[in-house]
Amino acid sequence: MNTRWDSSKVRDIHTRLLLSAIREKTSTRTELARATGLSLPTVGAIVKILIEEGYIVNEKLGEYGGGRKPMLLRFVPDARYIIGVNLGGAKTQAVLADLNGSFVSEIVSGSSTDLEKNVSGSVISLIEQLQKWGFSWERVAGIGVSVRGCFDIPNRYYFFPGEQEGHRLQDDLEDHFQVPVVLERNANAAVLSEWVGRQATGVRNLAFVNVGKGVSSGIVTDAQLCRGFLGNAGEFGHVVVENAGKICPDCGQRGCLETVVSTVGLVEAARENGVLVLDDGDVSVGFLHLVSLARSGDPKALQCFEYAVQTLGQALVSLINIMNPELVVLGGEVVWCYPELMDALTEFVLSRCWPYSRQGLRLEMAPEDKHVFLHGAVTLIRDSLFVPHNNRLAGSSNVNIGIAGRG
Ligand SMILES: [Zn+2]
Repeated sequence: MNTRWDSSKVRDIHTRLLLSAIREKTSTRTELARATGLSLPTVGAIVKILIEEGYIVNEKLGEYGGGRKPMLLRFVPDARYIIGVNLGGAKTQAVLADLNGSFVSEIVSGSSTDLEKNVSGSVISLIEQLQKWGFSWERVAGIGVSVRGCFDIPNRYYFFPGEQEGHRLQDDLEDHFQVPVVLERNANAAVLSEWVGRQATGVRNLAFVNVGKGVSSGIVTDAQLCRGFLGNAGEFGHVVVENAGKICPDCGQRGCLETVVSTVGLVEAARENGVLVLDDGDVSVGFLHLVSLARSGDPKALQCFEYAVQTLGQALVSLINIMNPELVVLGGEVVWCYPELMDALTEFVLSRCWPYSRQGLRLEMAPEDKHVFLHGAVTLIRDSLFVPHNNRLAGSSNVNIGIAGRG
């Protein structure tokens, strides 16, 4: 238990199972044995260690009709901290969270320009800004990093968007901070967060599609995060939808979905069509203007969104026919600022899917969360600590996290 996490050890799996059960419900040892199928002596031995490690406490004496009153065991969310980092947008961000995933510090930020100049160095500086919250590194369970860019996971390389030279970001962070580090594409981190939040519903096949300044997706198939050969599966934004379309600045190809339905693509098209005359350079302001024009019934603005529904809808139909999900969750600036789009999109998709792919299929809008990728980053570590509902997202993490923190 005092060594770093090793998921191959049966005892460690049992520890995570028990910790998850106590986190979900304050329980007695007998209730835990019943809920997990472990023997009472095994439960007793693991509970003793979890109390020593500070993950759980004896809560109070339970109400009991005579005889010896059983002790209740309660989970302690701030027994350890998790550092979440998002390298997705114009700013890099980091935050300190507890084991329930709640942010316990302010979000600190850095510039993406610094990131481009020195990937590992700028992320180390960003994380060091969190030290003003006075936490002890001994109590940090790990660092989760959600990134825009791509991976070569077998060789532990991260590639900044558009770069050929790989960075050993994971190794550099582990060497510097001496805690486990997990890196994922930001949409993979987000789908993990969605999935963890919906575990009680038993959902095992879902996609999260982010439609914002970029377009990306994360896919969970049969309770497994789909990562692909090198870790780059789910690049939905680079599905080609217009053969003679615009050049995609991210991948260099023509007519990627992202060039059409992202806020950038929509605003550019609206400006070219004369729907938007305002050109203040700020995409978000331009997009909100386009939304207000559509809401006021401007036919050209409505046409912009109709085309977006068709294009995104066609791409979604392909995704759904290939993966047969039970749930597709859409998030990002485009759907959150213009949720009216969801009805038209759902109708389009359900009317065009292969009939067997559409059975039981739901399309939902994710709750608006401007820190969706930062929450996802924190979940990358949380997922390594808990084993909820026997429905764990196996293989979702590329490192193992020690329940005892640092070895
Ligand atoms: Zn592209």
